[in-house]
Amino acid sequence: MLPNKTTLMQRKIMFIILDGLGDRPCKEFNGLTPLQKADLPSFDLLAAKGMIGRHYPLGPGIPPGSDTAQLSMLGYDIRTEYPGRGYFEALGWGLKVENGDVVFRANFGTVEREGKNLIVKDRRAGRISGKDAESVASAVAEMDLLNGEVKAFLRHTLEHRGILILKGLDLKPEVTDVDPHEVGYPVLEPQPLTPSPSAKKTALALKEFVLKSYKILKDLEVNIERERSGLLPANIVLPRGAASKLLIPSFKEKWGLESAAIAVGPLYRGIAKSMGMRLLEVEGATGMPNSNFRGKIEVGLSALDSGFDFVFVHIKATDVASHMKDPKLKVEILERIDGALEPILDLPEDYLLLLTGDHSTPCSLGKHSGDPVPLMISGKDIPRDDAGRFDELRCIKGGLGTVLGRDIMRLVLNYSNRALEYGLKPKPEEIPYIPRLSQLVPLSIS
Ligand code: ZN
Ligand code: ZN
Repeated sequence: MLPNKTTLMQRKIMFIILDGLGDRPCKEFNGLTPLQKADLPSFDLLAAKGMIGRHYPLGPGIPPGSDTAQLSMLGYDIRTEYPGRGYFEALGWGLKVENGDVVFRANFGTVEREGKNLIVKDRRAGRISGKDAESVASAVAEMDLLNGEVKAFLRHTLEHRGILILKGLDLKPEVTDVDPHEVGYPVLEPQPLTPSPSAKKTALALKEFVLKSYKILKDLEVNIERERSGLLPANIVLPRGAASKLLIPSFKEKWGLESAAIAVGPLYRGIAKSMGMRLLEVEGATGMPNSNFRGKIEVGLSALDSGFDFVFVHIKATDVASHMKDPKLKVEILERIDGALEPILDLPEDYLLLLTGDHSTPCSLGKHSGDPVPLMISGKDIPRDDAGRFDELRCIKGGLGTVLGRDIMRLVLNYSNRALEYGLKPKPEEIPYIPRLSQLVPLSIS
């Protein structure tokens, strides 16, 4: 291996994602977006010290999930390097997923029988949590399916959520969701997505699991008790997002960077783990609007000071406010984040900041959209534009232009002086994704 030294100063990188950052005009603010409405002196100062622009995480008009967006923004090809969301979540919860297992995210929901169908009345069983959720989960924690050929394991995670793992020979994550994703719709029969016998077998096992769970849960003591006290029973498990284990190249292998991550939500922790990033803990970090934003920034900075080249900081609260359709809360959160950015307002010259969102979540929609997302690269002596302020409108005119999520790591490497000149890697069919300094091997003279 070559020593990671060059005469050129290579910058350390702080990569901050404010989940669901981008927004649309809000009628509550007379047509301003939360970024426009909020008072954000730190954002603006950082924008003035660099360039702004926008990115489409996956492509124009495609509403991304957080996982596909972040994977793409960290330079992974979601066509070949995306295992499915359930796998990331299972990793984030510290569950062991073996080769051949099929993993699902699952909700405990409430259904009512209408004829032969089970109609979804609530996808979260009244946001069941605590002991009730534990009792429901333990009633269906383990099950034999297809005459013992397949075993199901369900683990409760947060509130109404869990992870379902199917284990057995010849299973494939090529099945549709059981969760119809809408209230008032019937629970769906899982369908194989390919003609392969494995997909069919998986669909059959999943169907059996859902039917058996319903039979157990509809008469479960805790559910009868809940109904008596006017609460919704959790009488169905609604799996979705089939996934399987997929080993992807580590962040170090891809980019030659020693990386750490600061994230709370299991999905984001799972993404970081799958890339071999070191997870750092921050006291008071909750993944919610009350999170310790300042602590995250400080821990991130000290990680860079202590030898990491790259630190990924994920802040979820912005997306939470958007899903709640609460633009005022989003403004409050943005202003608190702005205050938390103080320690990085005057970064040393060998540090680079990238700040953006993983997708837009307009408060008016309450869900992810395919809109572009504001993007900023900031640091001492990097080129500047004259946009000055950081919001959706100004970012249209910014010097970075509008790029794709998968371009972001290239920009980061370029401005941190780590990119290799095109042509060094003989792959004419693609722009080189991977200037892997760490993979260069010195010539050895015998
Ligand atoms: Zn997200
Ligand atoms: Zn979201």
